[in-house]
Amino acid sequence: MTEPATQLLSHLKGQSAAMFGTLKELVELESPSSDKAALDRFSARLADLWRAAGAQVEVLRQDKAGDHLLVHVSGAANPSGSSGSSAGKPLLLLGHMDTVWEVGELARRPVRIEGDRAYGPGIYDMKGGHVQALYAVRALKALGRGPRRPLTILCNSDEETGSRTSRPFIEAEARKSEAVLVLEPANADGSLKTWRKGTGAYRVKAVGRAAHAGADPEKGISAIHELAHQVLALQALNRPDSGTTVNVGVIQGGTRSNVIPAEATASVDVRVMNPVEGERIDKAIRALTPVLPGAALEITGGLNRPPMERSAGNLALYEKARTLAAELGFEIAAGGTGGGSDGNFTAALGLPTLDGLGAYGDGGHAVTEHVALSALPVRAALLARLLETL
Ligand SMILES: [Zn+2]
Repeated sequence: MTEPATQLLSHLKGQSAAMFGTLKELVELESPSSDKAALDRFSARLADLWRAAGAQVEVLRQDKAGDHLLVHVSGAANPSGSSGSSAGKPLLLLGHMDTVWEVGELARRPVRIEGDRAYGPGIYDMKGGHVQALYAVRALKALGRGPRRPLTILCNSDEETGSRTSRPFIEAEARKSEAVLVLEPANADGSLKTWRKGTGAYRVKAVGRAAHAGADPEKGISAIHELAHQVLALQALNRPDSGTTVNVGVIQGGTRSNVIPAEATASVDVRVMNPVEGERIDKAIRALTPVLPGAALEITGGLNRPPMERSAGNLALYEKARTLAAELGFEIAAGGTGGGSDGNFTAALGLPTLDGLGAYGDGGHAVTEHVALSALPVRAALLARLLETL
């Protein structure tokens, strides 16, 4: 192990208890995407923690969504003086503050430790990532080292619902930055996320005509019958070899079994590895046409997050992380996931983006959600090494 790595790791291991204490506190500040008051309490506390670590915090006030935070940490290496290079550009770190858990979940599942695992709503996705970033920066400062570049840490409140209000801020900050590190959790096997699928959501509504199923069947047009044709057409768009998935996840329609149904709706989830597939699917869904005479289709929705492709820039960042992890004594692999994150937006702008730099654990969005406690200081050390070398 090289000296800078050893020093950081032993310092952060000494912070293990404090890291868990902060993590427990943040998990206990529940923060569902839908609850502005709860999110604002969370972001206020997170802002205080960053200020105490010497950062400047801008609060991006929101009317309905929770307030977002822009945290600024100055760089140690005075890169702003170097002309003609990109050395003065900040690194952008992304971390969402919202969780998929409503207020009250904590009462059912309080924070608990079993062996090396700490359980709690939002602990892995992704409050662990915030704690690791905070302690990584604190460790660098405590050791008189500091991040090389200035850091911008964007903490948003609406990632789990599509980042509708934070996306413009994410894209604006990304355009000013050198590279993007996403504090979402690592994969369950510990690998980092070098690619993510792009995501889309559609609603396909079939409209027919209601009629008495016994007395006047010839007057009716069954929206469910129509939708059944469309479901088969949608499922046929799947292309597993290309990583494209189209899932009709919900269907609704009809009123009574003796009424020919006038309306039926399918909710469709789409995942693609690249923009070409995204375009193919989008065109195909919009081109769906009714099969039954007199039926109509209404198609809404679209692609939300563009794919984060396994670009050369992403892989170069990953290689850097792999080398730094080896210096810290552990191996790390390059993974990916079908789930989207805010890294999709920055990668689509061409920014080198490395995701999964948050907590190591498993069970995101599930009651089994947990982090590995022993990994908190180790993953924080990896992040700190990236911050001081990139
Ligand atoms: Zn997440």
